[in-house]
Amino acid sequence: MGKRVKFQELLSSIRGAFDRLPEHRRGQNTRYSLTEAGMSAFAVFYMQSPSFLAHQRDMQRQRGQHNAQSLFGVEKIPSDSQLRNLLDPLDPAGLQSPFWEIYERLEAGGHLADYTGVAGTRLISLDGTQYFKSQKLHCSNCRTTVRDEQPYYSHAVMLAVVCAPDQDHVVCLEPEFITPQDGHEKQDCEQQATKRWVKRNAERFAPGAVTILADDLHCHYPLCTLLQQHHMHYILTCKPASHAALYEELLLLEQVSGAITTQVVEKWRGPHRERWVYRWAEQLPIRGDLDTIMVNWCELTIFAVETDEQLYHCAWATDHPVNAQTVPEIVASGRSRWKVENEGFNVLKNRGYHFEHNYGHGQQHLSSVLLTLLLLAFLCHSALGLSCPTYQAVRRELGARRTFFNDLRTLTRYFYFPSWQRLLTFMYHQLDLPPEALSVN
Ligand SMILES: [Zn+2]
Repeated sequence: MGKRVKFQELLSSIRGAFDRLPEHRRGQNTRYSLTEAGMSAFAVFYMQSPSFLAHQRDMQRQRGQHNAQSLFGVEKIPSDSQLRNLLDPLDPAGLQSPFWEIYERLEAGGHLADYTGVAGTRLISLDGTQYFKSQKLHCSNCRTTVRDEQPYYSHAVMLAVVCAPDQDHVVCLEPEFITPQDGHEKQDCEQQATKRWVKRNAERFAPGAVTILADDLHCHYPLCTLLQQHHMHYILTCKPASHAALYEELLLLEQVSGAITTQVVEKWRGPHRERWVYRWAEQLPIRGDLDTIMVNWCELTIFAVETDEQLYHCAWATDHPVNAQTVPEIVASGRSRWKVENEGFNVLKNRGYHFEHNYGHGQQHLSSVLLTLLLLAFLCHSALGLSCPTYQAVRRELGARRTFFNDLRTLTRYFYFPSWQRLLTFMYHQLDLPPEALSVN
């Protein structure tokens, strides 16, 4: 295992970004720094505890010391309304650097060595998701639509995530917020956001080192050419309904023997036998216009051998060469995108996301600033999960995610810990874990 990424290093990346943000306040009203406000909100998400700050204020009153200070470097904890006022005017674009600093630390430590997909490339999934909706609360950056003659306010974001076929966890990258200027249709909005993300970040990676994964909504000429220009590969879900020209060509090829290749593999999945049928063809037009590009196409259909029932089907367009050797890799890479839904962001969407309750919606950027901090908290847990043996051992021992966070909440409510390392080591010893995995600070 490579060099461990320390909690303090993660925090200093995030603090650094807040320290560099321009001061938006005028006059003498600067009792709390922007950094303190930012780190306080980060702490709430990192601990997945909406009442973390309230408990630490109580601890401060009773004992003169508290965990927000010792763990997160917050000397004075702002009230919820102060926190809202301090964070609301901040442009979340100022918080992009910690994502890349943490990613680079993981990369430099060798912790992403197993995060590779087809042809040894790094797989980055881009996926749009709505993270706020309301018929009442709204701000100047809400997208406004009308449903049943009522205004409907929402915020959406394009999440960028590193995933890999054999890895259970995903690593969050800098997000791209979808703005009201991006348009009304889901498709337009997501396309604009994806373009911005690619243009801004493609140069961070060596030419040809990345494969972008995205759904059918993005499988079209503009994105394929954009990625080509920026030397990024792609594997994009490709459905018949949205790719008439490509599927017409496939129908024609089906008449020609050998034009579409089929490969059948049987595999055990638990006690059941499955038949995996791969089909592929190269050089098909992504659209019917004269101005088009040719893509390679493959699909996987899985059947239960006993019943012949179809269990799974999906098809993709890619610029990677498709042949008998590469097709399983391409399909495995394309399918790993589903981990983002299953593993990562269900947690973000359904749990640990309580901030409307504490802070309201804000007038300007609060919603996206808080979501950025939530993603950073998620990334910090992933970074420790990939690189810190003590953290790994504690998480493994506690099993369910919920148990780990319940324990963090309870411990930090009643006990003072002088550092994150001391908190983690305390859990480690109380769980009677073997001394080998205890990493020295
Ligand atoms: Zn809003």
